[in-house]
Amino acid sequence: MEYVILDMEWDSAFFPPEKRFINQIIQIGAVKLDERFNIIDTLDVTVHSSFSKRVSKRFTTLTGITKQMMLSGVSLEEGVKAFNEFVKNEPIIMTWSDSDLYTIVDNEKTILKDLRFDIRKYVDLQKYIQNELRLKGEEIKSQIALSGAAELFSIKTDDFDLHTAKDDSIICALLLKKCYNKERFSAYIKDATDPEFYKKLTFRAYYIKDINSPFIPREYLNFTCLDCKKPLVRKTSFNFHNNSLFATMYCENCDKEYIARISARKTYDDVKLRKKLTLKKTQEEKDEVQPLPEKV
Ligand SMILES: [Zn+2]
Repeated sequence: MEYVILDMEWDSAFFPPEKRFINQIIQIGAVKLDERFNIIDTLDVTVHSSFSKRVSKRFTTLTGITKQMMLSGVSLEEGVKAFNEFVKNEPIIMTWSDSDLYTIVDNEKTILKDLRFDIRKYVDLQKYIQNELRLKGEEIKSQIALSGAAELFSIKTDDFDLHTAKDDSIICALLLKKCYNKERFSAYIKDATDPEFYKKLTFRAYYIKDINSPFIPREYLNFTCLDCKKPLVRKTSFNFHNNSLFATMYCENCDKEYIARISARKTYDDVKLRKKLTLKKTQEEKDEVQPLPEKV
């Protein structure tokens, strides 16, 4: 089995045919590893933009790729062909976070016609490494940067040009060598030829606005009084704002009004439900909090 770590650099540029900014691929870098994670081949291709004559200052500062370098690059088609030749033995292809895949999908749709990056078996290396770090007892809250992960595994990055496609890939290889576990790693291999794979990747989570949505179980709309625990009576319909659905509820036993809040976030294969009940402020209490403006 071969492994390939892919790392691309892209620059945001205005794409006239669609009147929007897209992240156009400017560099495709990759390293090929053998079974013991030794580097056996590298790929380093600079791509010239098919619609822009410049690169942003920010991009040049970050990557060291100048306008001249971009302009003397190959076309994206040629770059992808070079990549596909590089991965012809169907290796497991990895990237550091799946953001590279979003960019690939967008570049395929906008710039490439029928040509596709040949990615079959895919692993989000960031996800795998973050899990390994958690198992080591590290507390990982948000997505960890490559340099941060390298540091946690005592890999020195001083001699590397971070944010160049090739060197980033080499750091990934060193990381993988340090924390590869066959069983756990195989659980992260995804079949990128399955249409569901890209559907899931490009699915945008959203908050449900309609209380009658089938994704909200009916019993979830029931609330009980915080004092007497008796069921509340709904007095208004649910209204959507601040990513949540709100309604006024009433306890006939205690003569108290409540605000019920339900938030339902739809992800590709799940619904994340949350609910909260708070006592409704009386007009007097509201007046206390917000004193009326004095007469001028
Ligand atoms: Zn009550």
